Amino acid sequence: MLNAEDVSKFSELDEPVLTAYLNMQPFEPARHRLTPPITAWLRKESKALLEKVSSRTRADAREQIARVEQFLSKQKPRQRALMILAGPNVWKAVRLPFAVENELVWGRPALVQIEIALSRSTTDYIVVLDRKQARFFRYADDEMTELFNQSFAIHSSHWKRKTSAHVNAEPAETTRGSQRDAYERRIDAQYNRLLRQVAKKCTALCRTANDSMLFLVGDFRLAKGIESRLPECLRARTQHIPCDAARLSSPRLHVRFKQEIAGLRQKHEAEIVSKALDDAEHAVVGVDETFAQLQHGRVGTVLLSDHLNGEMRECPECGQMNRSSDPVCSVCHRERRSLDLREAVLDLARSKNADVRVISGEASNRLDDAGGIAGWLRGRTQSELR
Ligand SMILES: [Zn+2]
Repeated sequence: MLNAEDVSKFSELDEPVLTAYLNMQPFEPARHRLTPPITAWLRKESKALLEKVSSRTRADAREQIARVEQFLSKQKPRQRALMILAGPNVWKAVRLPFAVENELVWGRPALVQIEIALSRSTTDYIVVLDRKQARFFRYADDEMTELFNQSFAIHSSHWKRKTSAHVNAEPAETTRGSQRDAYERRIDAQYNRLLRQVAKKCTALCRTANDSMLFLVGDFRLAKGIESRLPECLRARTQHIPCDAARLSSPRLHVRFKQEIAGLRQKHEAEIVSKALDDAEHAVVGVDETFAQLQHGRVGTVLLSDHLNGEMRECPECGQMNRSSDPVCSVCHRERRSLDLREAVLDLARSKNADVRVISGEASNRLDDAGGIAGWLRGRTQSELR
């Protein structure tokens, strides 16, 4: 799978290139070859595209389309979707594990779809608990993978022997009681040590991405015992699912928790949005303000609604960019070019090293009302910027 660094390299490819996003399904697996609609779609779309391309580069575009067609004719229909970048000195074909919107573009590499998909894709972790063990799972791109488990074996046999020996020798009620207390304290100490180990493993897993969520499935006391030992930033991304699921296989766990996890994720994202919108000191809200701060490199994380659309205008000379419809730059009087708003946000975020977090579904409602975009400032407050 691609990462943000690959996409950043794609953005630097020589223009013009052909970008194709192709959904490879539906297909007929029995015939082991691709069947329409994708090849039919490509033929139709290529024709429309070539009519729009300037005569200067039309032959090049036609050549790249032929390469893509030839490549497709050899593909086995096992994959979900493809992204292809093709130019005179470029050939990149990337399998994508998620559905795309079919798209064919000639010119600058068209990276909006892949960037949106990458920033939307998440890797979460699930720990299924019972008194015997903790099972660790990774949950990414709608796939659940069992990673490893940790046994909760408690070594108590030699204490028991000791305890019962003493009980026989000393009939006094109080002594027996205190010995039992000591036994339980030892059991508790062992559990505490094991829960601390689980918490440590969870922290290590979630450290790779700062938006991974952690789901603790099982008994309330065990889950709380782990949660209380997590670092604070991870605790804010941890959810407890009270359910006895320790014996379920990985596929059954997937079916059982898919919806619940999606719901908890939506809730978490809605909270992230609310937090930004309510924190006027550390966040900026709306297209104009977010753009202005992003251009100055002051935004660390952009929250971008899935529904955001519109246009920006950019000066090719000084790079000044805003939503004003003015066709000429006010600074250097050059003619401004228009850009897709989402593309502009993604380009700018990439060049300023800001993270982008795409908010979709119901979680984006409040963000949409506030202009569809917000940004967390990099360790500074609004009053410091003023
Ligand atoms: Zn300018």
